[in-house]
Amino acid sequence: MEFDVAVVGAGPAGAAAARRLAQHGRRVVLVERSRFEAPRVGESLAPATQPLLVELGVWPQFMALSPLASYGTRSVWGSAEAQEHSHLINPYGCGWHVDRLAFDRMLAEAAVMAGAELRCGTALASCEAADDGRWLLRLNHAGDPTPLRARVLIDATGRAAHLARWVGAQRIVFDRLVGVATLFGDIDTSREGYILVETTPDGWWYSAPVPQDRMMAMLMTDGDLCGRASLSARIRWRQLFACAPKTFARVSGTVLWGPRVFSSLSQRLRRSEFDARWIAVGDAALAVDPISGSGVVRALRSARAGAETALALLDGKTRHAIEAYEADRDFECTTYLHERAQYYGVEQRWRESPFWHRRAAALTEMAASSQ
Ligand SMILES: Cc1cc2nc3c(=O)[nH]c(=O)nc-3n(C[C@H](O)[C@H](O)[C@H](O)COP(=O)(O)OP(=O)(O)OC[C@H]3O[C@@H](n4cnc5c(N)ncnc54)[C@H](O)[C@@H]3O)c2cc1C
Repeated sequence: MEFDVAVVGAGPAGAAAARRLAQHGRRVVLVERSRFEAPRVGESLAPATQPLLVELGVWPQFMALSPLASYGTRSVWGSAEAQEHSHLINPYGCGWHVDRLAFDRMLAEAAVMAGAELRCGTALASCEAADDGRWLLRLNHAGDPTPLRARVLIDATGRAAHLARWVGAQRIVFDRLVGVATLFGDIDTSREGYILVETTPDGWWYSAPVPQDRMMAMLMTDGDLCGRASLSARIRWRQLFACAPKTFARVSGTVLWGPRVFSSLSQRLRRSEFDARWIAVGDAALAVDPISGSGVVRALRSARAGAETALALLDGKTRHAIEAYEADRDFECTTYLHERAQYYGVEQRWRESPFWHRRAAALTEMAASSQ
């Protein structure tokens, strides 16, 4: 029950951080709420994922998942004509389309292979600082409360940042984006090695192939708009799907699951102190809009920086290490917000609809604040 580091959340960020720390000989527990049973989204990996997976030592395991090569993005954004953005000029070559559940499971297994202890089906129930400077976590495993002590905590619970909020941090939430996803099967994906994004008045559509002849199609819209117009009801989703002509023409076949709603909100975590021995990695630290196509790359990068920071915390270098880590995340956040505003600003056709009107207003606000 005594660990150097407790990592809560075994998505890409948590698993990668746990593997790195275990490789440094630290006693690590990786706590995961699920049993990797429910479908996951985020299947298109940017080319820059490759060097990070190689560095983690999991490239052979990754290739064993039979990922599909991704040659770039076709973007129907700002005009009815599709624009091509090829990965072929990328120094790392192509990107990849994966089964996200299999990918996340592979990374968690890699953490175990390095020596981390993985506890699945176990959720964080509470967290407090003990008198000896350690953290006392109470975990919930099949209804049984389990205590656990650790010197350093890593929040890798995704954009909800459950652990960080337990210890007093707050989220700055930039939008309420959701993805309403349906997975289709029995599709010939042999000529579909690319991402397609297509705007409509209600938001934008994303589609991409998934290994084993499957294809993901997803409407990205705001949570309140989704609820008000019942966009997650199959019949309504289908109606809107037919309004995205290029996506609709590409994706057909048997519905395997969906429509399902996934929170896709952008957020940055704010901590009020820099002395407590915890950090957040991945989406828990900074969650970005899926239009950036970089969520997994960012998660793996912040896992690397987070693991280095955790090692510094174990060595007693608290304040400076945390401040440096947070300053890097702040810089990343500012850059991301500008890129996001510019990208949405390209689409001017649906300015009157609430989804696009909100994005245009954010762009105007950002321009005003930078003057
Ligand atoms: C709709 C959508 C589409 C996306 N598409 C892409 C894409 O195509 N490409 C891309 O690169 N990125 C994409 N992303 C972003 C990408 O999925 C995330 O950036 C990435 O998964 C972040 O990894 P993470 O490990 O920080 O968090 P997560 O992947 O969210 O993992 C968090 C983990 O913590 C666990 N957990 C949560 N709470 C608790 C708790 N209390 N106790 C224990 N465990 C807990 C969860 O079960 C989960 O395993 C997409 C995101 C969304 C929402």
